[in-house]
Amino acid sequence: MLNFGSINVDHVYTVEHFVRPGETIGCRKYRRFAGGKGLNQSIALAQAGACVYHAGKVGAADAWLKTLMEDKGVDTGFVQTIDGPSGHAIIQVNAEGENAIIIVGGANQLISEAEVQGIVADFGPDDYLLVQNEVNAVPQIIQSAKAKGLTIAFNPAPMNAQVLNYPLELVDILIVNETEAQALTGESEPDSIGETLNRRFPQTAVVLTLGDKGAAYFSPQARFYQPAKKVHAVDTTGAGDTFIGFFLAELIETNNPAAALQWATRAAALCVTRHGAADSIPSRRELEAIQ
Ligand code: ATP
Repeated sequence: MLNFGSINVDHVYTVEHFVRPGETIGCRKYRRFAGGKGLNQSIALAQAGACVYHAGKVGAADAWLKTLMEDKGVDTGFVQTIDGPSGHAIIQVNAEGENAIIIVGGANQLISEAEVQGIVADFGPDDYLLVQNEVNAVPQIIQSAKAKGLTIAFNPAPMNAQVLNYPLELVDILIVNETEAQALTGESEPDSIGETLNRRFPQTAVVLTLGDKGAAYFSPQARFYQPAKKVHAVDTTGAGDTFIGFFLAELIETNNPAAALQWATRAAALCVTRHGAADSIPSRRELEAIQ
């Protein structure tokens, strides 16, 4: 499995109030976390037991992110270290717990077409490609991987208008949450979302995550719903990334989308009972222990 994705640093500043125009304020607390949907999903895949190669770019000052991924079982041989800033987020958290966030694409936005082709050349028809919408060159990544016969999984997060111009007809597995699905289809009911996407992209299986309601799978051949496990949720950050990693790992292993949906909702339910993103992604062993 090749995951071509973002690697971010999240800088979190706890403040009394969001900084106002012209104002300079101190912060109560500063914390730094690993982030990026790409990094999180690679970690989730590895934690779920898949063999995952991450491709992407990181600034030289943030080599710790590569080490973290390796410690979690991700192969970082295709992660290039560059001079210049990593992708990062500057996150203010105010006394009410609300966020104000600035995203800097940094190294995540510097992927060239030649680099994409060079990396994809090492993979073939038995392999899966996963990509999200936090790196540049998404259309080239999808097209190159398709030309080499890989199975393509795409998570259009964060959603933006450009996604509508991507070669979505080449995607084998489209994984979306309700917001992304609504932006793609204009529909809000799960069945209508599934039917619309299956009609528009008849070769594509659609996985729709539904927050605390669970998840659904739609393909022209089959439709399954999987309710979420009832848990006490304390922090849903990383739930979507955990879901995607465990869904794909199980699908690769069993080729059974219903089993993959069930396994992924169990993993994501455990994730939401813990604080953090990358740190809250469970491992296969932990999940097996709480059968
Ligand atoms: P996030 O951005 O918070 O990571 P997302 O918007 O990408 O998530 P969601 O559909 O909200 O995706 O959640 C992904 C999966 O996580 C759901 O399909 C579900 O299995 C699980 N999940 C999310 N919230 C809960 C919850 N409160 N209780 C149990 N499971 C949950």
